[in-house]
Amino acid sequence: MAEHNHNICIEKSTQFAQEIALSKGKKLTAQRLLVLNILLSDHKAMGAYDILDKMRDMHVEGQGKPQPPTVYRALDFLLDLGLIHKVESQNSFYACMVDKSQDEHHLAQAFICDECGHVDEKIARRGAQNLFEKAASFGFKINKVIVECRGICATCQAI
Ligand SMILES: [Zn+2]
Ligand SMILES: [Zn+2]
Ligand SMILES: [Zn+2]
Repeated sequence: MAEHNHNICIEKSTQFAQEIALSKGKKLTAQRLLVLNILLSDHKAMGAYDILDKMRDMHVEGQGKPQPPTVYRALDFLLDLGLIHKVESQNSFYACMVDKSQDEHHLAQAFICDECGHVDEKIARRGAQNLFEKAASFGFKINKVIVECRGICATCQAI
């Protein structure tokens, strides 16, 4: 991604996470927050085991080592709240850092760089609207739309 102050991304997304959890009466436990923070550290998709490794690195002595089910449960929780998204074609996850209003289940359009793993998420409102209108025209009820664009980011093209 172009140079930017990533702290702002982290701050905004963390605040949004707190608000959405509160509004839904859900609790961002320490484990869930830890998984979210790991994903927020960069605009990159990570596999569950990479996340687990990082959790173990930050492991506090005296507490049980985090196990895969802990990570999967936290990921499910975060997915459910729309705070992270899954890259289906890679089975990896990335934090949602786009500007969105509360509770908006937006169509996440992910542009994933195959060279560096960078994920750029854009919201394509008109694209989403087209799909939903098309579906409605023949009575189809959409539960989930997955749009993943794989390619090479501008930074990697410039190398
Ligand atoms: Zn950022
Ligand atoms: Zn998103
Ligand atoms: Zn790249």
